Amino acid sequence: MSSAACIFCKIIKGDIPSFKLFESDKVFAFLDIQPLSRGHALVIPKFHGAKLTDIPDEDLVEILPVAKKIAKASGAEDFNILQNNGRIAHQVVDHVHFHMIPKPNEQEGMS
Ligand code: 5GP
Ligand code: ZN
Repeated sequence: MSSAACIFCKIIKGDIPSFKLFESDKVFAFLDIQPLSRGHALVIPKFHGAKLTDIPDEDLVEILPVAKKIAKASGAEDFNILQNNGRIAHQVVDHVHFHMIPKPNEQEGMS
């Protein structure tokens, strides 16, 4: 299921370009366009739903192993996994997404 108006559904379809990191039949992952740190990635279900509560369990369970793979591949020892639901919780894009945000050693900075 996808939504014609949804920016992340367009990214999955390739109608909007992205730096793709991973794709399977249920999951897509790509770099965030406004990274909070180097390697900031978004891991999303291909199933369109605005909030975590809209996504079927069989799609949801495939997300975290991908986030884990990307976290490992980033080389970051420390990182945040973040997932916002609703405006009050700072969600901007209404297609469920998990942020994987590397937290580099402060001496290393963004580079
Ligand atoms: P939210 O605040 O909804 O949890 O985060 C949405 C994230 O999507 C933001 O970090 C933002 O930079 C990212 N984003 C929004 N539009 C695009 C886009 O067109 N391409 C990519 N790669 N990331 C996007
Ligand atoms: Zn969508």
